[in-house]
Amino acid sequence: MNIAEYTEILRCPACAGKGRGELTPLKADWLACDCGRQYPIVEGIPVMLPDEGEKWFKVPADELPEITEHDRFVNA
Ligand SMILES: [Zn+2]
Repeated sequence: MNIAEYTEILRCPACAGKGRGELTPLKADWLACDCGRQYPIVEGIPVMLPDEGEKWFKVPADELPEITEHDRFVNA
């Protein structure tokens, strides 16, 4: 799947229950919700975990790590 397909089927877990949570592609490997939560795409798989969204809450796009860097972090 490509990033555009993900934005059609996935919703921010914090907002989906309110009928919202549409995601916008951000940089190469991130999905961002209007609420400020942001989810990384690690090895092609979006990490749609509430904790993950909170971790990157409103972090400016230019401060989000490259996904290779984040990948090591997730697996640590
Ligand atoms: Zn949200």
